[in-house]
Amino acid sequence: MSNIIVQKFGGTSVASPKRIEAVAKIVGQEIDSGNHVAVVVSAMAGETNRLIDLAKKIQKKPDPREFDAVVSSGEQVSAALLAMSLKKKGYNSRSYNAFQMGFKTDSSFGRARIRKVSEEILQDVLEKNIVPVITGFQGFDDENNITTLGRGGSDTSAVAIAVSLNAKECQIYTDVDGVFTTDPNIYDKARKLDHLTYEEMLELSSLGAKVLQIRSVEFASKYKLPLRVLSSFGSNGGTLINSNDNLEEAVVSGIAFTSNEAKITIRKVPDIPGVAAKILSPISDAGIEVDVIVQNVASDNTTDFTFTVHKDFADETSKILEKLRKELGSGEIEVDLDICKVSVVGNGMKSHAGVASKMFGALADEAINIEMISTSEIKISVVLEEKYKELAVRTLHDAFELDKN
Ligand code: ADP
Ligand code: ASP
Ligand code: MG
Repeated sequence: MSNIIVQKFGGTSVASPKRIEAVAKIVGQEIDSGNHVAVVVSAMAGETNRLIDLAKKIQKKPDPREFDAVVSSGEQVSAALLAMSLKKKGYNSRSYNAFQMGFKTDSSFGRARIRKVSEEILQDVLEKNIVPVITGFQGFDDENNITTLGRGGSDTSAVAIAVSLNAKECQIYTDVDGVFTTDPNIYDKARKLDHLTYEEMLELSSLGAKVLQIRSVEFASKYKLPLRVLSSFGSNGGTLINSNDNLEEAVVSGIAFTSNEAKITIRKVPDIPGVAAKILSPISDAGIEVDVIVQNVASDNTTDFTFTVHKDFADETSKILEKLRKELGSGEIEVDLDICKVSVVGNGMKSHAGVASKMFGALADEAINIEMISTSEIKISVVLEEKYKELAVRTLHDAFELDKN
């Protein structure tokens, strides 16, 4: 079957009965134009947070299996409400949860990875001219436990479904017009981008732009599925993400930021070979990802070793390091939760020198102190005190003139 489009609607797009009716209209228009449509929905805005709070009121560290059963339930409500709304408009529609749809994952509750999407079930539904409205975010494992794909995971559900159906395009409807040069809710000068490569979007998502869950971009890139981000509140083409290079590549295409990380410092470790491995091995053995790393050599043959991890793992990381302290003969361990990471991203940086000096110069002019730096071919990230986050984003946006085409 050709002419298949997958449309995903996020929380704000299905936040109320009125919004659901508006979404049904968008889906209806796509069907009327001759396409087959599979729909994926998130929970109504705020619902997943409410469910998480509820679970935590019963158990501070909720049982992972039951936690996923609770937090995935919001999607079932919005899926059925949207199917009802489509039926009211005269379309033959049915809601499906992950189990009914054959959406198989592994068993890592809270961050499950997709194993298989049963395209037979979906093809069959589409061939009968039924519009499936599928719960995003949820899956089930080999033992039929309900799992979830991590926050923002409905994007990934939609892409996985689009890939399995060999869809023409996966459309991610949200509350902004597309992907912008930075979060338009932080800076009103942010400009909508008409096009991005997978590579650029991967960097933006991994560095904090929550408009797409990173795994959805990885998946789309792997299968060369065109992704389009657009607004369910009225859109003007949105942002298309595919593998085509931009003809006139921007040096910097966007600025991303995150407050998700914590900075961990272990003071006065002996400056001898093998120390970095000794510090980082037990952390990676515990399944904790380390991001930015800095090592400062002090004068007395010791170094201060600093790195960042996700805030959720700050406690566990500092406990691991406490155990190591004696063995290393090192000093204090410090945990700083009051940081943010701001990054400039752009494919054109590959062939352009001077981005770093311009970035550091602009931050210096605002007296913003850079605590750590990390670079790759197409991004530069700096770790700053949290209070400078918004100022840094605006300053860099102005410095690279991202409001101009
Ligand atoms: P949904 O509920 O539709 O999945 P999300 O809240 O997950 O929506 O993602 C949309 C939000 O992403 C926007 O409201 C915006 O605040 C944020 N965002 C962050 N960076 C960007 C960016 N570069 N472009 C567009 N939106 C961004
Ligand atoms: N409802 C889930 C969340 O809030 C999944 C999603 O919105 O994509 O994270
Ligand atoms: Mg989202």
